[in-house]
Order: sequence, then structure tokens, then C-alpha cells
Amino acid sequence: MLDGTPRLAFPDGADDAVIAEWNRSVRLAVRRLLDYSTESVPEVSKLEERRIGDLTLQRLAFGAGPDGHFRASLLYPSVSRPSRAVLVLPGRNGRHEQVIGLEPPDFPDRNVAERLARAGFATLTIDFGLRDAYSDEKRAGRDETSLIAHAMALKGRSLAALLASDAVAALRWLAAEPWVDKSSLGIIGHSLGGYMALYAALAYNQPVPIVLASCAGLYRSMFERDAVAGGAHALPGILQYADLPDLMGALAPAFLQVQHGDRDPFLPMADAGIAIERAAQIYARHNVPERFESSILTMSHGTNSDVAAAFFERAFSVPAMTQRPLVPPVRIEFSAAARRQILERIDRSLVTGELTLGSCGIEFERAAAMWMGTPEAVAVNSGTSAIETALRVVGVRGRRVLLPANTFFATASAALAAGAEVGFVDTEPLGLGIDPDGVRQELERRDDVAAVITVHIGGIISPRIGELIALCAEHGIPLIEDAAHALGSLLDGGKAGGFGRMAAFSLYPTKIITSGEGGLIATRNSADAAVARSLRDHGKRGFLANVHDRIGSNWRMSEVHAAIGLAHMESLAAFVAERRTAARCYDELLGGMRGLTVVREPAGSSSNYYKYMALLDEGVDRNQLKSALRERHGVSLSGEVYDTLCCLQPALEGRFEAKDFPVALGFAARHICLPIFAGMTRAQQDRVAHGLQQELDVQLSAGSIRSPGVKVHASV
Ligand SMILES: *Cc1c(COP(=O)(O)O)cnc(C)c1O
Repeated sequence: MLDGTPRLAFPDGADDAVIAEWNRSVRLAVRRLLDYSTESVPEVSKLEERRIGDLTLQRLAFGAGPDGHFRASLLYPSVSRPSRAVLVLPGRNGRHEQVIGLEPPDFPDRNVAERLARAGFATLTIDFGLRDAYSDEKRAGRDETSLIAHAMALKGRSLAALLASDAVAALRWLAAEPWVDKSSLGIIGHSLGGYMALYAALAYNQPVPIVLASCAGLYRSMFERDAVAGGAHALPGILQYADLPDLMGALAPAFLQVQHGDRDPFLPMADAGIAIERAAQIYARHNVPERFESSILTMSHGTNSDVAAAFFERAFSVPAMTQRPLVPPVRIEFSAAARRQILERIDRSLVTGELTLGSCGIEFERAAAMWMGTPEAVAVNSGTSAIETALRVVGVRGRRVLLPANTFFATASAALAAGAEVGFVDTEPLGLGIDPDGVRQELERRDDVAAVITVHIGGIISPRIGELIALCAEHGIPLIEDAAHALGSLLDGGKAGGFGRMAAFSLYPTKIITSGEGGLIATRNSADAAVARSLRDHGKRGFLANVHDRIGSNWRMSEVHAAIGLAHMESLAAFVAERRTAARCYDELLGGMRGLTVVREPAGSSSNYYKYMALLDEGVDRNQLKSALRERHGVSLSGEVYDTLCCLQPALEGRFEAKDFPVALGFAARHICLPIFAGMTRAQQDRVAHGLQQELDVQLSAGSIRSPGVKVHASV
């Protein structure tokens, strides 16, 4: 009955300009259907003012305007009227006296206005007058809202249009009140009031933070199931343009919270989930994913005022001036589907009490092994403990571990924790790994080397890793990969983690995927895997055994972390693909740029693009460039890998032989890492490229840059 694609379905894959135009079109369509044309502030008269306990209640009559009369109640703490105001639109069965707290609620949290007023907001509650308008005798068992809707239709006006217009009028009045702070004005609607809030917010000329409670779903299935809403839930004609999820998405860039009860008898979770996920995607495409919040609550067809109050606190704390979205350095994304799946898995652990080293962790290890090019994967609680465990498995105590001068501090600290001394080696310029020539020199002059660690900087596996493997084999020394950056990276088809005797991955939040905190150990050797499993659990012989064969520690990954990691692991292919697409776009945008040279993948190497790196020409002031990008272009670069060499960290002073590391030093001083993440838009990349060129040109024209600079990187 309701098939056919709405005319204004969200244009997936479009660029920012098309999306902005789509957003305008949806708002215009809603305005048109609302038949709301007046921009004026309605006339309001005060009917009554009184105290109810520590709250003050004003009964107001909204009189003028084309939409006739309606009443509303303003409620606020008596001590001092707050400047933050929320418009409250109740459901069709929400009795006004209950919503404002004059009568005890017959449904949990029905007293939304009272609760929000007690939480420190002035609330203005519209009395929709949808109850008790007809006597029982007149109703004769018929649905009252339908009767009113039909009556309105006789006047050529839809009930939804009328109610939503009232809501816009009330918003306008609030915004014009001198005591209201315009950047602290919000709207909350429950059920029918939620749909009205949605329309009102779309028709209103400014983005206002909005809470939609118990109204998520799809008009299509809602009306195919039952039409009891009586023509009041939907603006007649709206499906020509868009269904609920797209309308919700069109609220971007306003802060939006969608509340839904997991046992809502009217709006099934399945449809609500589709709507929430779709709206979240549209928010992401508007570059404001952080302004969309979904809250699946343990309730039926209700509203949670506390959750709403916390949301308004947050939304109102963002000053109106920072409304321009920044290009973030990284973005950590869990889709609504992923979040639901995580919560289900966690719930299962809570029900069964299986909270660590359980079935989720096993499933996670199995999924991880597919990505690491090894049959064995051992999950631990951090990347650092993964490195330490690997070093303990191969045995380094009392001897020396060689590692690159350019790495994260944890590579060295894990070696020290495993009982080794550290020796640093310079970086090789082709693939940014540890320099095989430097390693050879160290092996020739020392007899205490127990292991060599290479680090896949930024996600690049160096093509020279073959030389390292041969060298280590020749000396009978294990090669360990610190692959913290490189899950999903390849070299000549071989996966990161499959090159050394063992490898360590990190699942820290900023890494390519995350489990909150966590790490993984990859190994081809099942005996090594067994020792790693024992070490992560205090060197125990078995999970239930109370016999400790070795000194390990508690490096276990909990089921909760495994549940999070598993969801992200399932997105890894998509993440890497999206990052690689973004990287190709940067290659094109930055290819001929004055003042910098991009770090390209060496032949055979396929990076996961954990980082997109570029080298600045000599003389470019990196700090100045970064702050200019942030302040003038809203672009935040991501952290370097690394700006200070590991060996120069104060904690390591005097713990190794001082040496020069010219390649690593040059790289540390001159590279930058551009924002890159799955879901990055072309417009965001354009902004980064445009900002970079403009700011590099500023520095070039100041004459401080010697260009072209000496290239550290042989492959560029
Ligand atoms: C992140 C990282 C680590 C440490 O991982 P955690 O999970 O934070 O303990 C180790 N080495 C490198 C190169 C890293 O980037």
C-alpha cells in the first residue's frame, strides 16, 4: 500500500554540497506540509501564576496567529528562573496535569515537565487537548484523536500540521523571551509529541537540541500494522518526501537524542533499530556523528527524563560558535548494529557469569587469526602486554632486545619489563622499519642479542623485512613484529603478524580497530601459543588448574572487551577499504603540493593506512602549521608516529648506548599525519588539502622554507 521511494530519500554517497541541499529540501517540504508561513512571535497572555512546592507554574494562552488558540504551562524552579528552556510535547494520552506534575502520573515518567523543571530547566508544555474533548457518549467507543483529526480535516487542515505549527509557535515565543538563552533552547517529544517535535524542529529556522522518545520506527510499517494514530502521527503527504529515519537524519546538525523502550508494545525494536541506524548514518554524512545519540532503555512506551536532562546539559554546554564541525584527527565508530551486537554479547556474559577467557574471547581469537596470517591468535589486555608476552615466550631475560629508535615507548618498556636491556637501531628510509644494516652491525659486534623487534610504522610493512628475516635466521635470533599499527596491512600478499616468529597487535581506542583496551599475539607455532596462553594467566598450566609452571601475570582479556573487539573485527575489512580509498584521494590532492611530499606505500606494501603520513620540506614550522590548520581551517592533525624518538624519552636516559639515528631523527622532526578514518568525506579531505596548501604557502612566502628539501624518504 505504501510502496515507492520517497522523493527526498537521503542521497547516499553524495558530496557535502548535495547533502546540504537535500537537508534544505526536506525542511522546506515539511514547512510546506505544515502550511506554516508566519515567522512572527505569537501573542501570549498569562492566565494564572502559582507556586507548586518549590516550582512556579504559569498557565499561558497562545492567542494570535493563524492557528487559533492553544494553552501551555510554563514551569520552573521558583528560586530563580533558569535561562535554559525546554519545550515539552507529550503523547496523545499524556494528561496535561500529570505531565506538569499537578497530578500523580499513571505511567512511569509521564511527569516529564516536572522532572525537567526539577533538573533545572524551564519547561513549556503544550496542552494538545487531545483527551476529553468529546464526552464518552459522543465518542461512542471511537478513538478520540481520530475524531479530532477528522474534524480538522473538515476544515482543510491536518491535525498533525496544526499541532506541529503550535510547537513552532511556542519555540518562537521561547526564543524571543528575554530571559531565555538562545543557545540553551531545546525540545522534547514523546510518542505523538515526538513526531510533532520532529516536524517543528525541521520547520524551525535554527538547529535546536531535540529528544525524541518512543517514536522511532518506519511510517510504512506503522501504518500497515494499524492506523490507530488517526492521522495525527504523520503529516499527510510526508511519505511523498521522506520516511521517519530520513526526517530524523535531516535534524543534523542539531543535537539529537532518540530514546526507545526495548519493550515498546507499539513500536517494535526491529523497525526502531533500522530508523536509529539510518539516522546515525545521515548524521555521520553531515560530519556530526557525535551529535546523534541513541538510547535504548529498559521501558515500554515511555520517556526517561533523567537521560534527557543529561543530554540537554551536554548539548547546551557546547557554545553556539563552535557549531562548525571540525575535521577530527580520528573517529572511532561503532554502528548501531555493532553496538546492539556488543550489548547482546555482554548481556550473555552477565547472564552466564562467563566474564573472562570465555566463548567471546575464543570467537575473537578465531576471527583475529584470519587477519594475522597465522593459525594462532592469543588475546591479551593490551598491546604492551602482547609485546612483553611474546618476548617472554622467546626468552630475553638478562640479554638484549634490538628495537627501532623510532617507536612508541611501550616497545622499549615491554622489553625492559621482560627482563632485557634495550639497544636502539636507526630507521631504514624505504619502509620506515628497523634498519637491517644497523641490525647486522649490532649482531656482529654483540653476542648478547636475544631478539629483534621491528615496528610497522603507520601501517607500512617494509619491503626490507625479508632481509631482517634472513639475518635473524642466520644468527638464530627471533624476529618479533610490533604490529600495533598494522592489523590488516600486507606485504606481497603476506599479512602483518605472519613475518616474525611472533607478533603483537594493539587494540587501543585510536588503533585501526579497538576492544576498548586489548592486544593480540600472533604466532604460527602452537607451542609458542600455548606458552603465551599460560603466561597471560599467571603461568598456569590450565584454566582450572592451580599449578603455575612459570611466572606470568594477569594479561587476560575480559569477555566484555572481547565483545567490543569482535564487533570491530567484523568491520575491519570495511575500515581498511575506506581508509585506502581516502588515501588514494589524498595522494591525488597532495601529489603536487608545494612544501610537502607524501609518504607513499613502497612497492609490494599495502598499508591499512592507520596513518597517512607526509614529510614537510625542511624549514616548515610544524607546530605553527598545526595550530594554523586548527584555528583557521578547523582541521586537527593526528599525532605523529613519533615526534620524539623512543630512545630520547627521559625515562630511558642512560639505559642504552648513546648513538646517532639520523634517519629516524629527520623523520621524527619533519613528518605529519593527516586526519584519516573510515567514513571520511571528500569535502573533509578537500578542507584538509586546501588548508594545508594555504598555510604552507604562507610559510613559503615568508621565505623560511628551503624547497625542495632533502628527502629522508628514498621512496618519495
Ligand atoms: C599502541 C602501541 C603500543 C602499545 O599498545 P597498548 O595497547 O596501548 O598497550 C605498542 N607499540 C606501538 C608501536 C603502538 O603504537
